[in-house]
Amino acid sequence: MTSVAIRGALFDLDGVVVAQCLDFMAIKQEIFGSTEGFILERIQGLSGAERVRAEAILEHHETGAATRCQPLDGIVPLLRQLDHYGVRLGLVTRNSRKSVDLIQARLRLPFSAIVTREDAPPKPAPDPILLACQRLAVAAHEALFVGDFEFDMLAGRRAGVRTVLLCNPLQPFSRNADHLIASLAEIPRLLGLPDRGVPA
Ligand SMILES: [Mg+2]
Repeated sequence: MTSVAIRGALFDLDGVVVAQCLDFMAIKQEIFGSTEGFILERIQGLSGAERVRAEAILEHHETGAATRCQPLDGIVPLLRQLDHYGVRLGLVTRNSRKSVDLIQARLRLPFSAIVTREDAPPKPAPDPILLACQRLAVAAHEALFVGDFEFDMLAGRRAGVRTVLLCNPLQPFSRNADHLIASLAEIPRLLGLPDRGVPA
């Protein structure tokens, strides 16, 4: 059980809600001719035709991935369970609105708030987390954020929500995570809910 009742659960998209199908290295190589750094931050340093070209390449990869990606094991029943118990659900991603709309047209996941990079400065800034909380009408301290990368944990920590790292080989630990989990199946227990399923 938790000391503060959690009323909102926010999720990162890639690697948490859907299996990661973006090849960030290939995207960076195509845009910049090199693979260091982070895509959105490097694009912010471009201007004019270079920036237009870079954004078009990224959008092309994102929309392609959106038409192929599959939900991560366990996410659909988890969201259904949280929704059943009245937990408000939000999605916070660095991806584009267009790509998320394509995913939602296929998967129809029960998110009441979706924040994309068009809506706020991207993670690791706290802004998109705070905006999602605002849209769900929950206070930051009443929300948790589940992510699979350090930017997620940083954004969540800065926003004042409870941070949950879905551990993976590329991000097995974070000092900014309040909880480390190996599986989405551990989330109900963090909220003081039954381990699995929705009562009949
Ligand atoms: Mg991710």
